[in-house]
Amino acid sequence: MGVTSTSTRAHEWQMALVSPILHSTISLHSAQYLKMQNSMYKPLKFSIIVLVLPALFYLTFPLSANSKNTNQHQPVDDGFLLGSGRADITGPAFGIAMWGFGYDGQVTEGIHQRLHSRAFIIAEPNSQQRLLFVSADIGSIEHNITLEVIDRLKSVYGELYTLQNVILSATHTHSGPTGYWHSRSDGGLSGAFYQEHFESIVSGIVQSVKTAHNNLQTGSLFINSGDVENAGINRSRIAYEQNPAAERAKYSFNTEKKMTLLKFTNKMGAFAMLNWFAVHPTSMTYYNRLISGDHKGYAAREFERLTGDMQFVGAFAQSTPGDVTANLNLDNTGPGVDDFDSTKIIGTRQLEVALSLFETANEKIRGSIDYRQIYVNLANYSISDEFTAAGPQITCPSAYGYSFAGGSSEDGAGHFLFEEGMTEQSFILDFLVKITTGSESYSEKTQVCQHPKPILWETGTGSPPLQSQIRSVSIIRIGQLAILALPTEVTTMAARRLKNTVMSKLGGWAKHIVIAGYSNGYAGYVTTPEEYRLQQYEGGHTLHGQWSLPAYQQIAAQLAQALQTGTPIASQVNYDDWRGKSKSMPLAISSPSSLPKGKFFGEALPLQKTKYVKEELVKVQFWSSNPTSSYPNVNSFIEVRYLQNGQWITIANDADWSTKIHWSAEEQGFIAEISWQIPDAPDSGQYKIIHSGRYTDGNGNQVDFNGASGVIQIE
Ligand SMILES: [Zn+2]
Repeated sequence: MGVTSTSTRAHEWQMALVSPILHSTISLHSAQYLKMQNSMYKPLKFSIIVLVLPALFYLTFPLSANSKNTNQHQPVDDGFLLGSGRADITGPAFGIAMWGFGYDGQVTEGIHQRLHSRAFIIAEPNSQQRLLFVSADIGSIEHNITLEVIDRLKSVYGELYTLQNVILSATHTHSGPTGYWHSRSDGGLSGAFYQEHFESIVSGIVQSVKTAHNNLQTGSLFINSGDVENAGINRSRIAYEQNPAAERAKYSFNTEKKMTLLKFTNKMGAFAMLNWFAVHPTSMTYYNRLISGDHKGYAAREFERLTGDMQFVGAFAQSTPGDVTANLNLDNTGPGVDDFDSTKIIGTRQLEVALSLFETANEKIRGSIDYRQIYVNLANYSISDEFTAAGPQITCPSAYGYSFAGGSSEDGAGHFLFEEGMTEQSFILDFLVKITTGSESYSEKTQVCQHPKPILWETGTGSPPLQSQIRSVSIIRIGQLAILALPTEVTTMAARRLKNTVMSKLGGWAKHIVIAGYSNGYAGYVTTPEEYRLQQYEGGHTLHGQWSLPAYQQIAAQLAQALQTGTPIASQVNYDDWRGKSKSMPLAISSPSSLPKGKFFGEALPLQKTKYVKEELVKVQFWSSNPTSSYPNVNSFIEVRYLQNGQWITIANDADWSTKIHWSAEEQGFIAEISWQIPDAPDSGQYKIIHSGRYTDGNGNQVDFNGASGVIQIE
């Protein structure tokens, strides 16, 4: 079959190198639980968690009493207007390079979990002041996504949602397809751009916001925080230890264990949950080929499912996991026996704490909503001594270091020619990079500025530069909570410095602070200057040089000051909007879908066996089509149905953890293999698996199909 993977056909070496760049460019109501309707999924384990954990947490983390309203602005005593919404943003499921590792040949071959956009609106009831926060199950938010979402919201809601009060934050899953970044060159640095993928992410996010907007109701917001144990480990400890001993002595751990959680309630009860916790979603490693939200996606889906409320929106948003991996063995494995097991374990550790914090949240958010946002050009941003402690300094045009290509060895490493900690420019390596990628030589000025980072690629000079140098940074106040939103991956100590900077500028009202990383753009990593000097992976990927953190501290301080004093802040630069300027690669395969003679789309191959017991894995194969050719029009490729009182009812679909679908391109057509993990307490009886999809007929029309497996008997 002429199945071409449009994303991998280019220069493989290039892709291998550019890979992690894909990073860049290239790129609970206890009662409710107990009322779970579906007997298949009675969460015994979680009932125990619900009952035991809160008690445990009261002991471990005494909750502070309701904080006094220290708000100097207009107080909001009658609560907020609150809304939440969720929508699908699953990318093309076959043949598209996956975002994050940039591992050669890591292209999508199916779906384990669907990806979602989860939107939350918090609004003052009697003013225009509001925050829109979106947590999206993708690797990164390109700033053009933010611009497009805001434009579309403007056309419906006018000036309610603007750059000032909208935060789109990625969970940073490494198991979603890439190709939604606007490419600025034909070279590998920018990778492929698929307009259809960009469009479906944008429209999914907008849909989740519209649902949230339409659901706005008066309600109360509660905040809680507590530690998550054994869900992350520092992967660049030697870099962390470059930070001053006196500073390190202030903290018990070299990762941030705190989860901060918001509980949304209205007169009907709790209806949404949003939390932030810092750990890399790399439990699914680069060997994985199935779309997955990783541990954050798992935890979110499980939290929602456990409420028994289909409308409940629960997000596990990302924070500052720059140097924090979920691979607890520090060798791209652990703590589980395989990727799926590890994902579930790390997800469950976050889920259990979230359930407990949610159940016990009693500190009400009181006070006003306010925000400040600014664009800055980080190619040459001047920073004062207050933030550098080394005299006035300047940031550099963006550049990747050798250790970027080396990758993080604890999360699987990158190209064999490179490794973490490289600080010497090599003539031979430069030559190899140039002949294999065709990249321009770096400028000496940028190399000096970026010292001691040996330059792999310079992306911040030229007209236009290969990557936008304009970064969007925001600060938001919701009552006693401050949220700093940054377009970066911030390391643990860098995050602490940023939080301290912001809190030092804010008044007594600020009791809580979270950093929402991966927000409104993607600008690589941010280490401390001390960590940078060691050029571990994170330092090699700190795009604007060693003064990147002090620059963000200065920007955050200005925003916090403006917020505190009620003064406006204006950007000196505009964003170099790249929408409509990138050449889109064809995503859809327009040739007719093929099948062997006598077969039909959705035809199930004979079952290997028909009788199963609990916890067994059912596998069924179907004749299928390339799912990318019908992207994004199929909402669910899988349904598991159970015969109840003479009717077939759906008990699981392709968003569920228990199901997986994997496509393979065979000689005469596509085979979809669907697997379903039977739960540990299934109802005995008859089940079947349905496969749906779309194919392209000889006239180029798209035609829906579905087919059913034979009957599966569970004893
Ligand atoms: Zn990352």
